[in-house]
Amino acid sequence: MERVHEKYEAVIGLEIHAQLLTKSKIFCGCSTKFGASPNTQTCPVCLGLPGVLPVLNREAVNFAVMMAHATHCRIEPLCRFARKNYFYPDLPKGYQISQYEQPLATGGYVEIDRDGGTKRIGLTRIHMEEDAGKSIHEGSEDTSLVDLNRAGVPLIEIVSEPDMRVPEEAVEYLKSLREILRYLDICDGNMEEGSFRCDANVSVRLVGETRLGTKAEVKNMNSFRFVQKALEYEIKRQIDILEGGGRVVQETRLWDTDKGVTVSMRSKEEAHDYRYFPEPDLVPVEVSKEWQEEIRKRLPELPDEKRDRFIREYDIPAYDAHVLTSSRSLAGFFEECIKEYCKPKVISNWIMGDLLRELKISGVDVEESPLRPAQLSRMIQMMDEGIISGKIAKTVFEEMYKNGKDPDVIVKEKGLVQITDEGEIEGYVERVIIENPKEVEGYRGGKDRLLGFFVGQVMKLSGGKANPAVVNEMLKKRLK
Ligand code: ADP
Ligand code: ZN
Ligand code: MG
Repeated sequence: MERVHEKYEAVIGLEIHAQLLTKSKIFCGCSTKFGASPNTQTCPVCLGLPGVLPVLNREAVNFAVMMAHATHCRIEPLCRFARKNYFYPDLPKGYQISQYEQPLATGGYVEIDRDGGTKRIGLTRIHMEEDAGKSIHEGSEDTSLVDLNRAGVPLIEIVSEPDMRVPEEAVEYLKSLREILRYLDICDGNMEEGSFRCDANVSVRLVGETRLGTKAEVKNMNSFRFVQKALEYEIKRQIDILEGGGRVVQETRLWDTDKGVTVSMRSKEEAHDYRYFPEPDLVPVEVSKEWQEEIRKRLPELPDEKRDRFIREYDIPAYDAHVLTSSRSLAGFFEECIKEYCKPKVISNWIMGDLLRELKISGVDVEESPLRPAQLSRMIQMMDEGIISGKIAKTVFEEMYKNGKDPDVIVKEKGLVQITDEGEIEGYVERVIIENPKEVEGYRGGKDRLLGFFVGQVMKLSGGKANPAVVNEMLKKRLK
């Protein structure tokens, strides 16, 4: 098993908040759209004015149940909202409506890839809650502003079991969860904008110890890389304390991106500090078996299922299947190509290599790729038909990506058609043989490796257009 230190092991459990992509907020009809001017998407309910009543958004429940299904959770027959009381400027009611003793779902798992195998990370629970507003500190030294557009946006909180042992597992787990949320199209998973947030609980203990050590909760990491770095730092900090004879204190710590350290923020609050009690303004939610089934029907094929099917159906390596299913749109692109021309492994190679590279360089998503699946398939078909060589294909690919033209058009416009005419190739072969008498002698004297040299020379003379197979054959015959 993986471990961070020869004497110690780390224990990591994550609490993740995912903003749901419903059109309206969880308890009122205000828009959830990101980026509007401050406080323009508010109403008496989400402002927490006296006398108003919350009404639960059914679609938020649908989305939460979708996630519960997708992560193999048990959906509780009855769940209840609770008030979590605390004081903060971005929380107008003075409490957050969350779920506490009776969450929506419990006991699921997510599978992550580790060292060629998979590891299951247990889920303790998934519950629904409302987001708080946002404090804005920029702009002035001595004032803070509050934007309540986010107040009341639906969230699900996904709590994991303390099943992770190294930072890399935590990152893989986060990536898996985000992939599932995106497949379901219920969260955009944007860590920088805060629609997918992670708090990491971490402790260390001596190898062999079964009791859990005292944990710290680390907040404020808004990228996968920072999660990795913050955990590495925090684990080392705790081991150093124990090695120095000290004790870790239970607290909440903040990741400081600039300094690359975690700093103490506050001592850990306990549940009783929040004076949780059942929300009197909302009735308990009963997600009936029928409702659950109705939602199950909305589930798309999930990443794991798709991966397995790709391996089975298209006979491609697990690695390829993994890359190709990393998003629903990329998987869609691959399958579109296959529909046009069924050469799965060749298509996979072009997508994983050339296409992903170009997309990365131009910073666009596969959905906006200027190169369409049918064009890639046609280009591969043209190679198989001997119209273009592999080398020319690279040029065609670049052109297609640049201007979105069809491969046939590019080949015609640029005169890239492969030369298979033996007469023309023979001319090049003769020239190469005449111009390189020393190499000819060497080859005939037994230096077989020189064949590659002759092929290269002929290809060069033909501007890369000669059919390499024909060139090979012809050279062998001629040099015998
Ligand atoms: P709290 O009461 O402090 O919120 P919970 O028991 O609810 O703690 O757990 C919160 C998260 O912390 C969960 O993801 C859980 O797996 C993780 N966790 C709990 N105890 C530990 C520990 N000793 N070390 C690391 N993670 C832990
Ligand atoms: Zn509102
Ligand atoms: Mg807790």
